[in-house]
Amino acid sequence: MSQEKISPQQAAEMIFPIDTALIRKELERLLSKPKCAEFVRELIKRAAENAAPDNTIVAEGDVLKIYDLVLTQKGLVRAGAEGSLPGANFATGSIATNNAGIQIGNVRPGAPLTKDELAALYLKSDGRVAMHETIHHSGRLVYSDQDLAIVVSTMPGDRPPLPTSGNRFDFSAYWDRELRNSFK
Ligand SMILES: [Zn+2]
Repeated sequence: MSQEKISPQQAAEMIFPIDTALIRKELERLLSKPKCAEFVRELIKRAAENAAPDNTIVAEGDVLKIYDLVLTQKGLVRAGAEGSLPGANFATGSIATNNAGIQIGNVRPGAPLTKDELAALYLKSDGRVAMHETIHHSGRLVYSDQDLAIVVSTMPGDRPPLPTSGNRFDFSAYWDRELRNSFK
């Protein structure tokens, strides 16, 4: 039974449950990599330095503590589930207004897979999204994709040029790519 394959279409139609404890473990695992820990620490530190005076750093930029704070506020929701918003991944509300939340989108696998394989795919994807969205909440009033992209473009290393479109999704993709590179 457990070896029965789920099609990509079936998988995409599921509202896959969110396991906040497992995602926290995945965040811990990623942050245990020195390259990732260093990137995230530097990113949040610089974002705080460049932010408006009232948009101060949360929990000294400790991602796990910020994630725990989000869980005590609005928490995590899967796209398509009750209380979710149209679209995929976002940080909603803010720590300052006591309604910080994270919405995580669905995964569409490229090929049929078992339930266990789907769960593993989700964990990997949810961990990456949770890291990105938790970093938004490292500012009491949220650091935007534009704020974070600008900061990343000034960080040490071979950083590609900032997108010129001014589009939020381009800024998001820009700093997210650098974040994911730090996981390797
Ligand atoms: Zn973002």
